[in-house]
Amino acid sequence: MLDLKIINGKIIDVENRRIIEGDLGVKDGKIVDIGNVSASSREIINADGRHVSPGFIDIHMHEEDFSLTKKEKYDIAETMLNMGVTTCVAGNCGNNRQSIEELHEFIKEMGSPVNYMSYIGHNYLRNLVGNSDIYARSTKEQIARMQSMVEEAVDLGAVGVSYGLEYCPGIDTEEAIEITEKIKGRKDIILSAHYRKDAAYALDAINEMAMIGRETGIPFQISHLSSCSAYGNMTEALNLIEKHYNSGLDISVDAYPYAAFSTFIGSAVFDEGCFELWNKSYNSIMLTEEPFRGIFCDRELFEKARKEYPTMLAVAYVMNEEEIVEALNHPLVMVASDGIYRNNSGHPRGAGTFPRVMGHYVRDMKAMEFFDAINKMTDMPAKRLKLKNKGLIKEGFDADITVFNYDTVIDRATFQDPQLRPVGIDYVILGGGTAVKEGVTVNNRLGKYYRRGEA
Ligand SMILES: [Zn+2]
Repeated sequence: MLDLKIINGKIIDVENRRIIEGDLGVKDGKIVDIGNVSASSREIINADGRHVSPGFIDIHMHEEDFSLTKKEKYDIAETMLNMGVTTCVAGNCGNNRQSIEELHEFIKEMGSPVNYMSYIGHNYLRNLVGNSDIYARSTKEQIARMQSMVEEAVDLGAVGVSYGLEYCPGIDTEEAIEITEKIKGRKDIILSAHYRKDAAYALDAINEMAMIGRETGIPFQISHLSSCSAYGNMTEALNLIEKHYNSGLDISVDAYPYAAFSTFIGSAVFDEGCFELWNKSYNSIMLTEEPFRGIFCDRELFEKARKEYPTMLAVAYVMNEEEIVEALNHPLVMVASDGIYRNNSGHPRGAGTFPRVMGHYVRDMKAMEFFDAINKMTDMPAKRLKLKNKGLIKEGFDADITVFNYDTVIDRATFQDPQLRPVGIDYVILGGGTAVKEGVTVNNRLGKYYRRGEA
């Protein structure tokens, strides 16, 4: 007797790039049978011709801040589940929003909408050791303490160390390398980094990250390359990364499928010189709140908003979509959301990334190949994270499954409504349990926290 049977599906065999039309059987949280499954089952889902995919794996996102959710609920983990993600990785860009232990404990006690893993963030540790000055290098003592904290976090199951170089000019390349002293050369972990600077500085930033990867001897992941290099030099950026890869460096990349970023209009990102850097003008900036909601700037409005409404969220349509596509299609690049929310506001990528890739880039624009896209959202991040039982629909693998309707799947989240549920993500199964049924969440507590090596 099976626990769950999905019948009449187009089962995606990512490794062999083929569709198996048929059924899939689940028992004790594992996939046990694929094809023509005759055994009876306690629960049956009729996929009715829809695609049965490995659950999506988001290698780069930002967990909820429990001080905002009052430690009572989840925020982004819900939107992750809505878009078919079954496992995601927190603690990116150098930033943990609380300690990993706190996240782990909360999930152990409450369950979670999706499975979580986490990096330990360098910038977060800097604050813990008393260096809150983003322009100052850490002292010898502070670095020594961080070396121990990094080792301890890795021993306790962190997937690796993340850096937020752009956020913290005081981190020099040496400091980034020095904090890994006790984990150097380990191949079972990853370093990831939010680059030093974007646009014209992207190539220097890539060389710096490659140097950190080389000096530490630890596999390296370049974070959200789209927002680093989609300003006219994506080809050069990808060629450079490839050059480092071909010289033996274990390096890979993630990117999100949007050509706009969002931040406060008063942010230093919009300081003088930004448009020259991006090759764009005032009319690429849209304001999102009253009295200028939905209005694109001219010089006068831009300056007025910066002066009088500095905390207003603005959307910068400054990246080139062809370059986003170019990045997404590169063999070293996987899909990740970089999603982050604060009091339910933020960029729609945290609720739309995966359905957007399938609906917009694969189906509508025909800019990505179907199996490539699925691979970049499932098996590729699973392998990068060294997950032994996830990322494929295969006998013996965890029953983390997303059933989507390829004809309708699309993101709906916008900059005005950034957490809107996508269309066409019809079923999500976590560890054999049904979390989403016909597009409605029925159980948001099936997720676990995994230490590295546990999944
Ligand atoms: Zn980042």
